[in-house]
Amino acid sequence: MHQDFLRKIPSVNELLESPEISGFLGSHPRPIVAEAIRVALDDLRRLLVGEGNKGRQTERLDASTGGNSKDEKPATPLPVDLTPQAISLLVRDKLQHSFSGIEHAVNATGIILHTGLGRAPLATEAAQRVQNVLQGFCTLEIEKDTGKRGMRYDTVERLVCMLTGAEAALAVNNNAAAVMLALDTLAKGREVIVSRSQLVEIGGSFRMPDVMAKSGAILVEVGTTNKTYPDDYRRAVTERTGLILKVHQSNFKIVGFTDTVDVKELAALGQAVNIPVMYDLGSGALIDLQRYGLPHEPTVQESIRDGADVVTFSTDKLLGGPQGGIIAGKKKWIGLMEKNPLLRALRVGKLTIAAMEATLRLYLDGDHAVSKIPVLKMIVSSLETIDERCKRVVSRLSAPARDCLNSSITDGFSEMGGGSLPGERIPTRLVVLHAKKMPALALAARLRDNTPPIFTRIEQDRVCLDMRTVYNDAEVDMIVTALERICTIEYS
Ligand SMILES: *Cc1c(COP(=O)(O)O)cnc(C)c1O
Repeated sequence: MHQDFLRKIPSVNELLESPEISGFLGSHPRPIVAEAIRVALDDLRRLLVGEGNKGRQTERLDASTGGNSKDEKPATPLPVDLTPQAISLLVRDKLQHSFSGIEHAVNATGIILHTGLGRAPLATEAAQRVQNVLQGFCTLEIEKDTGKRGMRYDTVERLVCMLTGAEAALAVNNNAAAVMLALDTLAKGREVIVSRSQLVEIGGSFRMPDVMAKSGAILVEVGTTNKTYPDDYRRAVTERTGLILKVHQSNFKIVGFTDTVDVKELAALGQAVNIPVMYDLGSGALIDLQRYGLPHEPTVQESIRDGADVVTFSTDKLLGGPQGGIIAGKKKWIGLMEKNPLLRALRVGKLTIAAMEATLRLYLDGDHAVSKIPVLKMIVSSLETIDERCKRVVSRLSAPARDCLNSSITDGFSEMGGGSLPGERIPTRLVVLHAKKMPALALAARLRDNTPPIFTRIEQDRVCLDMRTVYNDAEVDMIVTALERICTIEYS
């Protein structure tokens, strides 16, 4: 029986010519529309032969045709609407979801460094700097006074040295690259001493022992999971030792009966045996978060001051800049890394350099960094400010929207995310939404369907909007507009 239906599915070309679908050609290249049609038709075929009657496919079909049958399990085969009109809704859905590419999004999840949402949002100053070099040519590697070839890393290096007291610095594509380059340069074929409590995994593919193996360094584990003493390191030093490595336990905490060796002690040991000491700091905090009521996060400058020879950190975690990694430390070691051919494979482009320089400059103004760098601004946002934003959303919903949605404001917790400050719950205020005729999952899906997509979190079967991570007032307005649309147009 479904064979008859299958035969009735129009061809890709027919659909491309149909007025319902040819309209998409104004905003999408023809091959993309054709591919979206193919994917939509594949879904339809699967649906017709009965495989698509569960989960995502059904939900998508219903979402795009405005229906609401979340919990229905239709019998096979479905009386599927095969008109170009109906298919065009599916194609529009595909174009919006599978072919949209990277785009602006609203983060109402309350996770400040959300890797899925691009980690740190850039400061206006950084965005303007990127805009400035985006089109046309720029002075990436040239000296204006002589017209001769220069180094792309020079300004970043100068800024990092000023801010941290390091002798030298180098920028690469992320902190993983920074660690890789440092290990490859300082410890290839040699032993690296690491505490057993610091063999971390950072988000799936970055596992310290694997990175070590890949760089050709030989891992020498010392101490135990909970306790490592200076003597453990001392006893492990041999003539094959190339590096003593400390790794910040970025995304987990060991509490209780614990002991670690601080940078000062490691630096003293390193000096005594003439072996460099490296600290993989991860987050790259340049200001002390304790001032803002958060736990102490080791800063780059104190690690340098305590005598680390090399410090590596991300520029898109607590630092609040673009994706990138910085290696700061003694000239002797950074100089070797500059000459390592691997650097060429890890080097940053002009957009990254522009954003990094502009972000670092903001730190020169001391406390201004906190008011200008979005990540820091979000961390220090007062509950009053967040509460005002919540009220702005709730109070501006129209009567019809309030008819379809119950909204309230309540206490909750934000998270740092990005493998920083694990377990630290930052008090926040949430807008809690309950749609009268829509499950929380469906409402969250509609919000993600918005332009720009709005990402929320679900707690106790309610959609929660954490207004701490909403970037600015314009985004608050976008949330209101989206809720109005979902309630009054699509869901009346
Ligand atoms: C985050 C982190 C990394 C990886 O940094 P990316 O910038 O994500 O590549 C490496 N080491 C530590 C300790 C980290 O916290």
